[in-house]
Amino acid sequence: MICMNNFKAEPPQLRQAMLAAVGRVMDSGRYILGQELHRFEQLWATRCAVPFGVGVGDGLHAIEIALRALDIGPGDEVITTPMTAFATVLAILKAGAQPVLADIEADTALLSLESVRRCLSPRTRAVLLVHLYGQVNRMQAWLDLCKAHHITLIEDCAQAHLAHWQGRPVGSFGRVGAFSFYPTKNLGAIGDAGMLVTTDASLANRASQLRNYGQEETGHFTELGTNSRLDEMQAAILSERLHWLPAFTEARRTIAQAYRAGIHHAAIQMLSEPADPASHVYHLFVVTCENRGALQAHLTRQGIQSIIHYPIPIHRQASCGDLPRDPLGLSNSERHAERCLSLPCHPMMEPEEIDAVIKAVNSF
Ligand SMILES: *Cc1c(COP(=O)(O)O)cnc(C)c1O
Repeated sequence: MICMNNFKAEPPQLRQAMLAAVGRVMDSGRYILGQELHRFEQLWATRCAVPFGVGVGDGLHAIEIALRALDIGPGDEVITTPMTAFATVLAILKAGAQPVLADIEADTALLSLESVRRCLSPRTRAVLLVHLYGQVNRMQAWLDLCKAHHITLIEDCAQAHLAHWQGRPVGSFGRVGAFSFYPTKNLGAIGDAGMLVTTDASLANRASQLRNYGQEETGHFTELGTNSRLDEMQAAILSERLHWLPAFTEARRTIAQAYRAGIHHAAIQMLSEPADPASHVYHLFVVTCENRGALQAHLTRQGIQSIIHYPIPIHRQASCGDLPRDPLGLSNSERHAERCLSLPCHPMMEPEEIDAVIKAVNSF
């Protein structure tokens, strides 16, 4: 089976480095809020071209804590996309704010500027922009829109580690960038982990208090926070995995190039090519097909795994009720949810596996 991920095939040097990192943490005798976290926060913030990183338990909390640190909560609206991981919208709800759903562009599945404009209201405090599938696009337009309407840009970078727009990395455009290091993300821990990055020192400080119950200094609890800390072991492992991230990202781009060059089928479409190679890190390689169910069954028979990201847009989730949305509807999101399919695209893929995927798709 050619799978969506294959961690067991990772290089032995990486495994050795991770085992040594675990030993380092155990030898230190400190497991929470120590040197390893401090070091990884510095390393990742530097990669994001910002001064501050605040490690948290996961990507969901990175977004929720970012919103709370920005005082975005009850009575406030945050515009985002229904074509995203559930955590994006859950974080807004958990912060007490109101998600407002704008539609996506048909050709990239990224949030549509025109739709977001239709969703603006006097209560809008922020746009939560998701760099879906690893794509970053039109950042100047997003910055201009937010500036013109005095609202905050927050980036959900959970799928876009190291993606660059005109020379700048994701996470450096908004007031805050939120990352997940869930194992399958482009930079993943061997468990849950997340981080928010920012240029704003006081925001970083508030976020680091919120992740630790709301503790300002030892024994002083100035507000009601939560417990969401990136532990030393995951931080140490992430520091090691970070060395490999640029090469792993290139491997993903090479696979995507092969797919773009090799897949030709009248019934299968690809998303738009990225504006430049740096603006897509191919967390996922997504195709669309009117007869998606049959395509997926065909691939399974050929020994190829595929996954749908995402089969049910957020506004159709039972738990989300009737979320406010673009008055013109969310038809692009609905259409994409019915047709999208993610093909295997991970750094451990062998050239023969890439060819096998192309052949299998073309023989549909
Ligand atoms: C994975 C993901 C999250 C949530 O991250 P967790 O670490 O699983 O909480 C949020 N947003 C997007 C776009 C994601 O892909």
